[in-house]
Amino acid sequence: MSILLDGKQCALDIETSLKAEVAELAAQGKRLPKLVVVLVGSDPASVSYVTNKSKACNRVGLLSEIHNLPQSSTEADIIAEVKALNADHSVDGILVQLPLPNRMPSKNIIETIDPNKDVDGLHSVNVTKLVMNEPGFVPCTAKGVITLLKTYHIPLSGAHAVVLGRSQLVGRPLAQLLSNENCTVTLCHSKTVDIPQYTRMADIVIAAIGRPKMITRDYLSAKAAVVDVGINKVDDKLVGDVDFEHVVDLVRAISPVPKGVGPMTIVTLLQNTLDAYRLRNGQ
Ligand code: NAP
Repeated sequence: MSILLDGKQCALDIETSLKAEVAELAAQGKRLPKLVVVLVGSDPASVSYVTNKSKACNRVGLLSEIHNLPQSSTEADIIAEVKALNADHSVDGILVQLPLPNRMPSKNIIETIDPNKDVDGLHSVNVTKLVMNEPGFVPCTAKGVITLLKTYHIPLSGAHAVVLGRSQLVGRPLAQLLSNENCTVTLCHSKTVDIPQYTRMADIVIAAIGRPKMITRDYLSAKAAVVDVGINKVDDKLVGDVDFEHVVDLVRAISPVPKGVGPMTIVTLLQNTLDAYRLRNGQ
């Protein structure tokens, strides 16, 4: 029997402790931490992600606002909004929901966010801190995967971890975090030749490629702990990058989709917002 890496339960447990922490701040009459999500336009997937983040804030008692800018907003408009949020002392965390409409590049906008409010961990200051293995904000999905592995006591130090996907948002920060945890890391991508030769040797396999059920039994061995980051819509159903049904009896541990990495991403955003609050309060 493989271990189910239950992200939903793990996130609920973390929410419980965050809720207690926020309640303690409220009891002391202190200002409460606040997250602002900047949403440009009304892409249904983005609206759904942003709404879920806001609901999660409500559950633990964090303040949250969605600043919805029109679809027609220019880069300058969005930068002006971010600057206003940087200057607003009541705001601890700023997240600009990506992707932006019409494939607008996000780099200049992200670089405008105050690095101490950059709860999505995408500002170059925080990227550098991750590479230097210094404290800073780390992208929520990547950090959430590490929390999930640690919660289930999957050994990291000395393990061979194979990360599939090298995006700035998921694959690259995950590879760096795993390296910081003393894993030996192999980072695979669309140009990698013969991916199964790497994944079959791995103690940990993390799939973040956006290819429904691509990772089949041929890719895995019995010693593998598998984390499926992928979210793909197939026939109106959400499926991961891993063929869960056909590998679950083979591997040592596996996360499901849904109820795996998704809830961990959201709860990590709450943790990062509280961290930003503490940082801004000199704690
Ligand atoms: P992305 O920016 O599209 O990056 C995909 C990566 O996968 C790229 O590095 C690409 O390689 C690689 N890739 C694509 N096809 C491949 C193949 N056949 N073999 C090996 N590598 C391949 O995607 P992303 O933002 O990282 O997201 C990845 C998946 O995670 C998506 O399904 C997304 O929806 C999901 N996701 C989930 C969460 C969550 O909270 N659960 C959060 C974020 C993303 P190249 O670099 O060579 O192009």
